[in-house]
Amino acid sequence: MSTKVGFLGLGHMGGPMAANLVKAGYEVLAYDPVPAAQEQARTDGATVLDTAAAAAAEADVVITMLPNGRIVLDVYADVLAAAKPGTLFVDCSTIDVADAIEAAKIAVAAGHRALDAPVSGGVGGAVAGTLTFMVGGEAEDFAAVVPLLEVMGGKVVHCGAAGVGQAAKICNNMMLGISMIGLSEAIVLGEKLGLTHEKFYDVVSTASGQCWSLTTYCPVPGPVPTSPANNDYRPGFATALMNKDLGLAANALRDNQVDGQLGLLAAAIYDRFNRTDAGRDFSAIVTDIRHRSEEGQ
Ligand code: NAD
Repeated sequence: MSTKVGFLGLGHMGGPMAANLVKAGYEVLAYDPVPAAQEQARTDGATVLDTAAAAAAEADVVITMLPNGRIVLDVYADVLAAAKPGTLFVDCSTIDVADAIEAAKIAVAAGHRALDAPVSGGVGGAVAGTLTFMVGGEAEDFAAVVPLLEVMGGKVVHCGAAGVGQAAKICNNMMLGISMIGLSEAIVLGEKLGLTHEKFYDVVSTASGQCWSLTTYCPVPGPVPTSPANNDYRPGFATALMNKDLGLAANALRDNQVDGQLGLLAAAIYDRFNRTDAGRDFSAIVTDIRHRSEEGQ
């Protein structure tokens, strides 16, 4: 495999994604400022460089998997000049649509190519190589990167122009946040009215209230034995990450003058919950709604 991949950001997601590229035969030039992440990447077979610019300099494709849009833009500003002309930059971080468009713009202005390619599937999907990639950017750049993304993912979708991959990600997660809150309110209302969780599930799972949050990810223990609720909401998709994604969705709603009242409310509800329970799975919101209902708040 002759493609050299620069990989910047070797955290919970980036670490196993880079490891899967090495396993598939790619030469991975990696960078992360955290020594433990560097050590793990070395163990996984990547070449660890001293700086992000050094990792990008020899690469044909540079993948970033970073905490937020500010850091992505800072890293791009740092590495674009060091990269070979025409390098393909692929940002897999979850960031603001506006930041994704800006990142692509500065990469192209510096003579490179750029895609946004956020993922869903969590750490489990990153380890198993079964992530879903939602990609924004030029069709020919998308076609060039598909084989590489397929090493790390099970599904790769070209969603549209620059920033539209991020749009798909936040639209999905905004719906998920709203549906989890709506379902949880209904469950707590049912509890107050004498409807057991089992009977709730029995009826709603095949009625018009049916949704993924109920039938795959039920927020109360029992009906779906594999859901995080059965293990005190651990592990799962941390409330902190849902809160982040709803914040990005809220920014996009405001930036685009969308009358997204439920999206904004969901962001506010998870923002409040995140202050007390950031680490547990986001479906633990049902416990907060129940608690507030008991107090009559
Ligand atoms: P993480 O905090 O574990 O990893 C981020 C890594 O970036 C860290 O190792 C950090 O040291 C590194 N980093 C920070 N500044 C850097 C720089 N200047 N250069 C190089 N590396 C730098 O976060 P994560 O869970 O791996 O998430 C990464 C991204 O993926 C986020 O945008 C997140 O929203 C998104 N995401 C996460 C999940 C998940 O379940 N964890 C799921 C989907 C999407």
